[in-house]
Amino acid sequence: MPVEAANADRCPACGASVCYLVDWKYSGLGKSIFNYTAQFYSCRDCGIVFVNNMSDARLAEYYAEECSYFENAHFSVTSPENREKYSAYAGVLRHHAIDSVPMADVGCGRGGFVTWLGQYGWDAACWGVDVDVRSLQQGCAASPNVTFRTGDALHLPFEDGCLGLLTYFHVLEHIRDVHGLLREADRVLEPGGQLLIEVPDAERYGEFPIGSAFWISIREHIFHYTARALTAALRAHGFEVREVVRKTLPTPEFAYPSLMVLGQKTGRLSPAVCTPSAGDVAAHLLESKEALLRQVRDIQAVAEKQPVTIWGCSAELFSVLPLLDLRDYRICDSSKRKQQAQYQGRAVEDPASVPVEGTLIVAPYLHGAAIQSAASRLGWPTHAIYLLH
Ligand SMILES: [Zn+2]
Repeated sequence: MPVEAANADRCPACGASVCYLVDWKYSGLGKSIFNYTAQFYSCRDCGIVFVNNMSDARLAEYYAEECSYFENAHFSVTSPENREKYSAYAGVLRHHAIDSVPMADVGCGRGGFVTWLGQYGWDAACWGVDVDVRSLQQGCAASPNVTFRTGDALHLPFEDGCLGLLTYFHVLEHIRDVHGLLREADRVLEPGGQLLIEVPDAERYGEFPIGSAFWISIREHIFHYTARALTAALRAHGFEVREVVRKTLPTPEFAYPSLMVLGQKTGRLSPAVCTPSAGDVAAHLLESKEALLRQVRDIQAVAEKQPVTIWGCSAELFSVLPLLDLRDYRICDSSKRKQQAQYQGRAVEDPASVPVEGTLIVAPYLHGAAIQSAASRLGWPTHAIYLLH
């Protein structure tokens, strides 16, 4: 299926001219929107790296049909790591004396942050907004002032000027039309209203490698933001940047580099903020691709001698598979939902029903050890197991 081309020749964040960086082949189960080749571009002025041929409309299909956030432990609202993260977000608000104004958390998922605010005495309306209905359905408003609504960042379900605060945690890296998002934020915020944006800090990806191509393999992250890119976009919409915060924050599975920017709606062009670069995103992407190609060559050498079975339909697998030229292989995954799917006509099997022969490639970086143990219990010898890393 063709991908709607956006193909901007100006930087979607700061407006400077952009240049082509590299192609990256992705794939996915069944008729995934990610069976395509992403064209990465970069901006020399603000350093942002972004996919230039994916649209918000196509991504909306993914969130409606394919996305599995709703069943992923990574997004548990009760995990101690995620609660520590909510506390860090609230700490930024507290530091700027932002408290108990009507607020909405856009892209709230299961509503962890607004629920946390409600429990810790935020004395005004808190709204959780998301497009992902399956995640929202798991939201449990434990406080009377917390409510959930369906909506997206480009069409917020609020009247003009009715909110004092908007928060966007891990939203902007998923959205092509950042200017549409900021126009909409400007519409629903009252004068002097504030917004707190958090994205993965792409300038520090290299300090958190996790696996050779972890960050770029997250297919729905079409923008890899720098601090300069975010602050430039905010300023262009009349938001004064009050603070840029770089932190390391936890998730249930790994620590990640967090970049937060707090902006205030002033309606005038504020002075530029000095935001020194913490790393070269384009260089990181090119190094990730090199690492991926080295790994592909290793797998290819093994596959020429013996049968190959791949365990785990993870994001990193969908960056590796399009680069491999395998004549015969099997794919398995312990998720019953994924066992209903196929990869380019090949069934996704139950790991327990796959014959133990040849080499087993364990794809997920984050669950490699757990899968290795499960494979051993099924009779796979340790020397036959290869972990993607
Ligand atoms: Zn730029």
